[in-house]
Amino acid sequence: MNTTNALIETEYRLGAHNYKPIDVVLSRGEGVYVWDLDGNRYLDCLSAYSAVNQGHCHPKILAAMVEQAQKLTLTSRAFRNDQLAHFYEELAALTGSHKILPMNSGAEAVETAVKAVRKWGYEVKGVAQNKAEIIVCSNNFHGRTMGIVGFSTDPDARTGFGPFAPGFRTVPFGDIEAFRAAINENTVAFLIEPIQGEAGVMIPPQGYFPEVRTLCSRHGITLILDEIQTGLGRTGKLLAEEHEGIEADVTLIGKALSGGFYPISAVLSNSEVLGVLQPGQHGSTFGGNPLACAIARAALKALTEEDMIGNSARMGDRFQNGLKNIRSNIIKDVRGRGLMLAVELVPEAGGARKYCEALKERGILAKDTHGDTIRIAPPLVITQDQVDWAVEQFAGVLTSN
Ligand SMILES: *Cc1c(COP(=O)(O)O)cnc(C)c1O
Repeated sequence: MNTTNALIETEYRLGAHNYKPIDVVLSRGEGVYVWDLDGNRYLDCLSAYSAVNQGHCHPKILAAMVEQAQKLTLTSRAFRNDQLAHFYEELAALTGSHKILPMNSGAEAVETAVKAVRKWGYEVKGVAQNKAEIIVCSNNFHGRTMGIVGFSTDPDARTGFGPFAPGFRTVPFGDIEAFRAAINENTVAFLIEPIQGEAGVMIPPQGYFPEVRTLCSRHGITLILDEIQTGLGRTGKLLAEEHEGIEADVTLIGKALSGGFYPISAVLSNSEVLGVLQPGQHGSTFGGNPLACAIARAALKALTEEDMIGNSARMGDRFQNGLKNIRSNIIKDVRGRGLMLAVELVPEAGGARKYCEALKERGILAKDTHGDTIRIAPPLVITQDQVDWAVEQFAGVLTSN
């Protein structure tokens, strides 16, 4: 048996089967490309769900990581370290946030926000104890922890994992009247993705978010935008909220905050919401550690100094136009913002997975989502020639059937 098959077999034998990956075993990455054990090169059109926006193994982030790892990696927040303040300062300057709480995974950032807005609801808004409600959207994806799967509407995510925590109400994504109708005196927050990524790159109707913003302000509801996937340049803006002309009260970021080197997430907020947390009420051993802070600082710097956000907007338009020009009777829709793109196939196409397998044979790694949709999200450093080449491969796969 060759190495590739042996590794796949061992994974299958010893690992829990909570993923069904495409059978490519990668051993190296650089920029937009990754290589498998046989030396085949692929254009990465997933970017680890947008964690690798800066490109694989970005040299400056790598250098910052190595340099910091040789000095100090972890102190816990029982003591202070010399990186955290700089991380706060640079992130606050970039995003305009007044308070920051660093965590590790995206799900932890979501859980942190849920805790903070509940407490804010009781202490600042005056909601009766244990009555706080958070409105969420159907088809949301906010992570995999117990609290979060409890308010998922995806049967795979929740079936068999109950009982779940109460205090969540679900409304359809993009439906302003449903949101308005779900508001009551106990509503403390609305938690929503600016674009639903896992659901298949779903963009809400024009004008939805400005109305959401108005209703949240009028009713004293904290607007929490989960920008863990949409944030940090993916949609061609630093934050996807900029497309809507609004500002969230709380913004969640993760994924590309480390450029793919390390799990780093953060809750960004006004002073009021995170202001309710007192010493001992929330924390994480690794959250805000000096290695994470040094990596995140370099990752943010690469994003802005190398114009990756502008490139995302330009290359995203080019990629989307290229896909829209493909004449194929199996394409139902092409949509996206910046380099967060999706091709939805007609049901008769027989599911997106086999087209992702065919793309792999042509040197592109992309991920099917929700059955009929191919999600496309290359690193933001992709060039014009690489976009054009990728479009040709998509055309080849989507018109040869
Ligand atoms: C990936 C993701 C999360 C969860 O992040 P993890 O690091 O996997 O816990 C939450 N929200 C959105 C929108 C995501 O895309």
